[in-house]
Formats: sequence, C-alpha cells, structure tokens
Amino acid sequence: MSPTSTGAPISIPLNKRASEPYRTGALVSLVRLHWFVQARWAIVILAFAVLATEHVAFPHVSRPLGLPLVILVLAGVNCVWMACSYSLVRRFHLHEQLVTDFLRTALRFANAQVGVDLLILTLILRFTGGVENPMAIFYLFHMAIGSLLLRWWHAVLQGAWAVLLYALLALGEWSDWIRPHYPFLSSLAGTNLHQHGAYVSASISVLAAGVAGTLFFMLQIAARLDEGERRLHQVMEALETSKLAITDLNRRRSRFMQTAAHQLKSPLTAIQALTSLIRDGVVSPEGLSSTCDRIIERCEMGAAQVAELLTLARVQESDPRRHHDTIVPVGEVTDDIYNRHLPIATEKGLKMRRLLPENQDLRAYIDRHDLTDCVTNLLENAIKYTPPPGCVTVSVRRETLSSRDLRQGAVEYVAVTVADTGIGIDQGSLMGKGGPGGTGSVFDAFRRGSSALAAKIPGTGLGLSIVREVVEQAGGRLRVHSRLGRGSKFTVLIPAVPSGCRDMPVRDARVSELDVDGAPGAPSPQASARDDSDEHT
Ligand code: ADP
Repeated sequence: MSPTSTGAPISIPLNKRASEPYRTGALVSLVRLHWFVQARWAIVILAFAVLATEHVAFPHVSRPLGLPLVILVLAGVNCVWMACSYSLVRRFHLHEQLVTDFLRTALRFANAQVGVDLLILTLILRFTGGVENPMAIFYLFHMAIGSLLLRWWHAVLQGAWAVLLYALLALGEWSDWIRPHYPFLSSLAGTNLHQHGAYVSASISVLAAGVAGTLFFMLQIAARLDEGERRLHQVMEALETSKLAITDLNRRRSRFMQTAAHQLKSPLTAIQALTSLIRDGVVSPEGLSSTCDRIIERCEMGAAQVAELLTLARVQESDPRRHHDTIVPVGEVTDDIYNRHLPIATEKGLKMRRLLPENQDLRAYIDRHDLTDCVTNLLENAIKYTPPPGCVTVSVRRETLSSRDLRQGAVEYVAVTVADTGIGIDQGSLMGKGGPGGTGSVFDAFRRGSSALAAKIPGTGLGLSIVREVVEQAGGRLRVHSRLGRGSKFTVLIPAVPSGCRDMPVRDARVSELDVDGAPGAPSPQASARDDSDEHT
C-alpha cells in the first residue's frame, strides 16, 4: 500500500480563486481516501455475494453471463481508478505547489468516475430487468455525489447522461431494439413491464424528475458548503495575518524591553560608579559637590525615563476607542500647556508666540490626557532644542484636507502646530525604514537625532514615540518640517468635531497616517515660528 494512504496529513492550501468552486476538501478526500473506489469494491463484493446466494438458494434461476462479466468490468475499471488515485496523490506530493493543476485533474477524475459508473449501472440494469429493476435509484446516488464534487454544469451534464442512458435502455427494450429481455425476478417473467408503453414512459419520467430534484437540492447544499468553505478560508487567512501580527508585536515588545532595560541601566551604572568613588574616598572634598550634582542629574534622567516609559505604556495599553468617545476643546488645552511653559521658555531667553483663532470651533475627538502629553512633549522639545535667542510658536487652527488626503471619511482636523527656530533635525534621523517616520527614525523609542546628540542636549528619546502613538490611536496625522540649524515645525492633526455636530461618531478602526516631510524645499519652520500673534519674550 502506498504511504500516502496511511492517513498522514496532507497539506493542501484551499482553492484561492473566487471563480473556482470551493470543493477542495471533497476532491482531496476523493483522491486521497479513495472512498469512491472503496465503495465500488463493496458493490462488486456485494454483487458477487448476491449472485452466489441466489445461485445456491434458487438453483433454477439462471442469470445471463453478461451480468458477472459487467461486474468484472466494474472491478477492472475500479483497479484503474485506484491506480489513478495513487498516482495523483504521489504527483501532488511531489509538486505541492501545483494546487490548481491538481484540482483540475481531480475534477476530471471525479467526472470520469461518475460518467463510467452511470454507464456500468445501465449495463447492470440491462442484464437485470431494465425498467423492472428498482436499482435505478443508484442513478440518484451518483447525482448526489456528483453535485458535491463537480461544478454545477458538470453535474447537470452527468444528470442528462444518466437520463439518456436509462431512456435508451428502456426505449430500446420497449421497441425490441435491445434483445433479449432478462427479467429482474423470475416471477416477473410474464409481466412484460418493459414493453408496457405507459409503464416505460412513467419510469423514464420518474427517473428524470428524481435526477432533476436530486441535482436541484444537492446543488443548493453544495453552494452553501462552498460558501462555508470560502468563509473558512477567509477566517484562516485572517488568523494567519493575526498570527503574524502577534509574532511581530511580541518581537517588537521584547526588543523594546531590552532597549528600555539597557537605557535604564546607564544612569544606574553611572550612579553606582559615582557613589563608589565617594565611598572609597577617591573624590576630594572640593569635588564632592559636583559629583553629587552629577549623581542628581543621573537620577533625574532615570526618573524622566521611567515617567515617559510609563506614559508610553499607558498610551499603548489603553483602548484606542477612548479617543472617539471624548470631545476636547483643543484650543483651551493647548493654551494651558502654553501658559505652563511660558516661564521656562522666558527664563531660557526664548520668544514665545501663540496663535489661537477665537472664532473657530477647535473641538476634536481625542483623550484629554493624551492630547496634553502629546502637545507637552512637542513644546518641551521645541524649548529644549532651541538655543536663545530663539523663538517658539504654538498655533491651533481648523484644517480641511483635500479629498486626496481623506481617510476613513475624516474631512476636518484640528491642527496643533509647534514651530521653533532651533537646531533642527537631519534627514537621516527623520527617515526610517519604509519611509519618513518609520522604524529607526526619531519617532522610534529611544532614538535621538544626531544634532541633539552632538549638542549634548539630554533627552530620553521617548517623547516623539508618545506623540506618534497618540496621533495614530486618535486617527490623526502628523507632519514634520525640519531644517538643520534653522528649526523644526511639528503639526499634529486630530479629527475635528464636524461643525454643528452634537453626536459623536464612533469609529472602531485604528487609522493612522504619518506625513513626515524633511525634504529640502519644505516651508521653513522659521517662517511659522515668526508668525505675528500673541507674543511673549
Ligand atoms: P528626547 O527629546 O527626549 O531626546 P524625543 O523622542 O522627544 O526624545 O525626540 C527624539 C529626537 O528628535 C530628539 O533626540 C531630537 O534629536 C529630535 N527632536 C525632537 N524634537 C525636536 C526639535 N523641536 N528640534 C530639534 N530636534 C528635535
């Protein structure tokens, strides 16, 4: 026996072409499990057993020699089908990628089996009474099997083939064209039903109706099975996608944990080294104060990292739908943040400007806490990366994007812009894998721009990750314009509450788009930073 028939799993991808019938499972089981072939062996054995029993029990009954011969032909044909089955499975195993080829061949194979079976069944009827024999019901079994295995029009053709064969036999015997007639039972020998015109036409009509009815119902069932298989296929594809997404998420999470642990280790190691120096008396009394300052600095750095990591974790863990349930007056929130940072910027010697139009509806769908984190990070960066006497401008306005930019039906946004005249960000730091703002850019956790590192400005590298996460979750957009040595301009666009709208549309999907522009020729951030408005120096 071939190893393929042992029940070892066979991996056959489902038929992906929507135009094809989804009978993959049935066709594979036909070829692989040889159930059609096995059923035929059972019929051959049963037929010989019945003939033998009849011969012993009723020695006076004699069947024509043609009958066992036809059964032998059935056995011979079955051997051919079995060989075809094995060779198909072997061929498919060798070339597993040829799924479409396999299905086409398996369909042809199934068609051939049904067609030849119908012919052999008619020959058996020929030697066992023709229209007298109720075994004509086996035509219907073949119709049922054909409907489940074949395309609908193949099944209909097989139905026509069955009715044609039966009608030829019945009419042939009725017209004496097929002779002699062999009675089904010896007791029916004198009835001559096969020559009874009304009986013959009734038999043909009943069979035709039976075939049509079986085909109709079975094809309906088959269509539902196809639908089920199609849905199963979609679910399997979705599962596969989710599996990949989960694997990717786990990989990113573990990389993030490793980086976070590594980053947190640096200030701790420095603190340990500095305190050891003090304990071992290496630090002179004069140097003690500056060493303590360095320790405090490292502690602050560690605390800042932990605080931002916690913020990032909170934003990532929260349900993105929270943004769509809350309406926030973006202008007010931004104004609060601006006022809180004004003294810090002024103390550093920076000019601060704000532009908040009074007659615009600046309400947007976003969580208040997250919006505060987002704008605070942008403003803190602008202050931190702008040397005095620079200028930082904060503006909020309503923005309607052209249809080319529409995503998920969001037309209007509330745009918060933070522009500065600071050190700027180089293109390399803005560009990541897969485009601007992608993996490896400053929007990734712990990534810092080369100009910030060169200027030795301390930072955690987590602020922009928080900004990106919030914007993505809120279904917003992010724009960056930056020029080295001339300044940066970050704009966060949050889906606005449509004018005059009281109800809150609920959107489930997490929509995100990142629109990062660091290319030369982009509008200068300095120009925005110098917009005349409510000005503080
Ligand atoms: P951090 O500022 O703590 O380093 P962020 O994630 O907020 O972390 O920023 C990542 C990097 O992006 C910074 O290290 C800096 O190189 C760059 N960056 C962000 N904002 C600005 C800005 N306004 N001007 C210049 N560079 C900036």
